[in-house]
Amino acid sequence: MEQPHPLAAVPPPGGTLAERELEASLGWLIGLRWVAGLGVLIATWTTGKLLLLQLAAGPLYAIGASILAYNLIFWWMLRRLRRHSVAPSSGANRLAYLQIASDWVAMTLLIHFSGGAESPAILYFFFHIALASILLSSRATYLYAVLATCLVGGTLLLEYEGLLPHVAVVGFVPVPLYRQPAYVGGVLFFFASAIFVVAYLATRMTTRLRRREAEVVDLSQRLQHAYGRLQTLYEGAQVVSSTLDLQQVLNRLVEGTAKAMGVRACSIRLLDETGARLRVAAVFGLSESYLQKGDLALDRNPLAREALAGKAVIVGDVMTDPRLQFPAEAVAEGIRSTLTVPLPGKSGPLGLIRAYSTEANQFTSDDGTFLSAIAGQGGIAIENAMAYHKLAALDQMKSKFALTVTHELRSPVSVVRSLLRTMAAGYAGPMSATQADILTRTLHRADFLQTLIDDLLDLAAGKSDVATTEEPTLVSLDEAVERGVKRFETLAQEKQVALEWQGESDDRPILISATNEGVDRVLNNLLSNAVKYTPAGGRISVTLQRAAFSPHPSSGGEADAGDVCLEVRDTGIGIPEESLPHMFEEFYRAPNAKALVKEGTGLGLAITKDLVGRSGGRISVQSTIGLGTTFRVNWPIVRG
Ligand code: ADP
Repeated sequence: MEQPHPLAAVPPPGGTLAERELEASLGWLIGLRWVAGLGVLIATWTTGKLLLLQLAAGPLYAIGASILAYNLIFWWMLRRLRRHSVAPSSGANRLAYLQIASDWVAMTLLIHFSGGAESPAILYFFFHIALASILLSSRATYLYAVLATCLVGGTLLLEYEGLLPHVAVVGFVPVPLYRQPAYVGGVLFFFASAIFVVAYLATRMTTRLRRREAEVVDLSQRLQHAYGRLQTLYEGAQVVSSTLDLQQVLNRLVEGTAKAMGVRACSIRLLDETGARLRVAAVFGLSESYLQKGDLALDRNPLAREALAGKAVIVGDVMTDPRLQFPAEAVAEGIRSTLTVPLPGKSGPLGLIRAYSTEANQFTSDDGTFLSAIAGQGGIAIENAMAYHKLAALDQMKSKFALTVTHELRSPVSVVRSLLRTMAAGYAGPMSATQADILTRTLHRADFLQTLIDDLLDLAAGKSDVATTEEPTLVSLDEAVERGVKRFETLAQEKQVALEWQGESDDRPILISATNEGVDRVLNNLLSNAVKYTPAGGRISVTLQRAAFSPHPSSGGEADAGDVCLEVRDTGIGIPEESLPHMFEEFYRAPNAKALVKEGTGLGLAITKDLVGRSGGRISVQSTIGLGTTFRVNWPIVRG
């Protein structure tokens, strides 16, 4: 569950959306200014040369050239800012103020040199107010509106008073207007009021847009946060349900939760059998001494009662919350706030899961929902693990029972068999033909009973830990197979079935880690089935081959020398397709086998699979009805 805490999501690289926008707008403003500078130069030239109006061309050309010159500087500054700045937002803001201020000086000069109160360039100020509202704050925009009014008003008044020489565009207005109070007053009034109305409208619009933008950013951050949590939940579910070991499930839950929530610790307490106490079942991030404080008693712990009732309980500050049973211990542990939710089970809560933070007021109701979702998954995983443990224990009990019963049956049955054999041999006096026939059949049934008991004992022994089985050793498989094949030669001959055996061509022994008894039992089961289910005239071939290296899931570290494959192939009755999935189930016998051989326990293959599994191997079967069957057993080879 190693992953960054979703809350730790930071704004995307390059600053916030608004900051990145400002930077882009500055570039756009610089682009516009190239046009404006050139525009001033072209307009001056056109007015003088084409319209043949007299104007102060020199200063106006100088203004146009200065605009282009300082724009070049701004362009260079923006490039530097983009490349080097660690905190681009403050730099961009400063550059925005500087650009607008420079423009306004240029604008004021332009107005002055193009006729003052008579200049049509006065209207260009409105563009700049709109620009300021886009780039800067509302306050700054109003401040600029005041500044614009002062600059234009000042220029107009100074010219009116004669303190500043009036530079006219001769021929543009029929009579000079700059000294007519009504005209100058009118221009000033409408300029000032219009500039404030534009400032008001533009800032209102941009404020609303900015609010929306902030909402979008906030929403996308929340979405990212929610996505992070969903991912955590998904990964958590996978991790927790990847094992059925209860303690492992609990440990993974507490560790994963603490990491996903980015908090110091997490614990799980499960209700004991009495349902009155909560016992610590798993902990992550808490000290031993803190855990020594003992079980939580429900009658003395209102917080636990509240949580068990189904609520997510937040303790904002352990120092002041009266619901805590051990507040002093929590403070000593460095814990300031906690969040507790119930672990739901099918028939009521199983216990509690609690997250601990070193910060006060760390948890929100959102965290409560998140932890409850984790607890929901955890509850299922815990119940699954508990059910699995119960089943395993029951299976063990069943096996022990079968072991005891079959063990007790073994000796009386073998006594019965030996007595019956004595009678059949005639030691108890002569018998009629009918009596002899009945006796033979009884002996036959008793033999089967013995087989059944032996198989049951083997099966139960494999499943119960009490059975004292041989310790695994290095078994030379080629020798074991050769011996096994020899044991069945006579039986195969009697049945007129050919039995062939082919081992590996080289002389190196093939060693596997198993028990001699187990390997013999596997060979006996496979070979006896092959003989049993192959009619006269058929063939059985046994081969042993080293397979190319294939990493074996259950092999130990030393078993890296590849696999060995034992194959028992026959040309017998085969197995119906629908029976194949049940082949290794206890007591299962395919219908065609039952029809051919009445007696059979259906336990041999179950025992074989168990034995093969114990020695780190795998068994598989392939069969075509009427054509034959192949059993393959793969064992990891152990280096000799
Ligand atoms: P049993 O032989 O006592 O019936 P096993 O567990 O050894 O029990 O085998 C289970 C079933 O698998 C058999 O009843 C039979 O249907 C099928 N089987 C096993 N080996 C073969 C084989 N070589 N050919 C055909 N069927 C087989």
